[in-house]
Amino acid sequence: MASFNTYRFKGRKVIIRVDFNVPLDKETFEIIDDKRMQAALPTINKILSDGGSVIIISHLGRPKNGPEKSFSLSHLTNHLEQITSRKVLFAQDCIGEEAQTLSQKLNPGEILLLENVRFYKEETLGDANFAKQLADLGDCYVNDAFGTAHRAHSSTTHIATYFTRENKMSGLLMKSEIESAKKVMEVTQRPFTAIVGGAKVSDKVLIVENLMKTADHIIIGGGMAYTFKKALGGQIGASLCENDRIETCKEILSKAGDLGVEIHLPVDSIVADKFSADAQIDTSKSDEISENWMGLDIGPLAADQFSAIIEGSKTILWNGPMGVFELKPFEEGTKSVASAVAKATEKGAYSLIGGGDSAAAAKKFNVVEKISHVSTGGGALLEYFEGKELPGVAAIHK
Ligand code: AMP
Repeated sequence: MASFNTYRFKGRKVIIRVDFNVPLDKETFEIIDDKRMQAALPTINKILSDGGSVIIISHLGRPKNGPEKSFSLSHLTNHLEQITSRKVLFAQDCIGEEAQTLSQKLNPGEILLLENVRFYKEETLGDANFAKQLADLGDCYVNDAFGTAHRAHSSTTHIATYFTRENKMSGLLMKSEIESAKKVMEVTQRPFTAIVGGAKVSDKVLIVENLMKTADHIIIGGGMAYTFKKALGGQIGASLCENDRIETCKEILSKAGDLGVEIHLPVDSIVADKFSADAQIDTSKSDEISENWMGLDIGPLAADQFSAIIEGSKTILWNGPMGVFELKPFEEGTKSVASAVAKATEKGAYSLIGGGDSAAAAKKFNVVEKISHVSTGGGALLEYFEGKELPGVAAIHK
């Protein structure tokens, strides 16, 4: 793999795979949040200022059957011009004659944005011929799309086979994402606390099992905590529960004992009589929840206990909210965890927040600037901490 920082981009046509999967207003197609575009800017700007030209490949949304106006990357052209202060050319098809002609004519300092690569089903199928057609548009390949690094798609993985080792590399965003994930995985400072939350145990089993090998503490909150509580014999009322995962939870709890990792579950919960912001609300022990009531957030005692563990930690990974933080009555648990992670970081801990919902929570509770790294990756980060190889990262190393 080449090094992005020392590569000579001058006069080269550089294909960059980015993750410009930004939310768009359904009617006006205005960009609602350009965070993902901003995240790729350092990579784009470095190549342009070194005298290279840039050919941008991205996906947007999940188009089902070919081109769809609502998923067109043309909606991003004006904004890309504004944030780069460069002219942006747009190819209405990511392969074919127009893309070839535009890329051939591209001058140093210019940007060519290709239409949504997922308008071709070949992209997600990892079709080699499609990958070759994309590869033929440029001289070298930079992968800066950490958010899709867990996908073995044509433009994230197979394309790399058409470039020599000296001509393919990670971009600056990809590099910083991998470095921060590695830093947590290698646990240079202890105690290491992993905070795992969100709706389902089934989505998080693999990450919990893998983190048990390295973590000192695993804090489990969110809807997934109630299946654990039930596995321990608790009454969880109408809280989320995956009955087919009760055995898995028991196994995790028993393995934790063997490995010497402490698993922390919420002692109390904010419970509600329905899943709604205008529900009746109460506080209850998490294993004594009344019938028909559901736990929608960790309670104040749990929030204090979790915060104390987090504030005493030196390495922190957080994936998944502690409750239904999108609704005001159930946001306190997630807010207190966000604030504890920020406080620990101020005291010298290394903190990594990942996963769409946790990143959204960090933003909502104004702690983004106080966290060591807020990842742009959801699925990719999860798979990294599950111990899996990310195909998009592996491909540029081959
Ligand atoms: P995930 O995508 O698995 O990380 O789950 C995130 C979602 O879990 C968020 O939309 C939360 O609203 C939801 N969630 C968190 N805690 C609970 C809970 N106790 N009951 C139901 N849903 C929850």
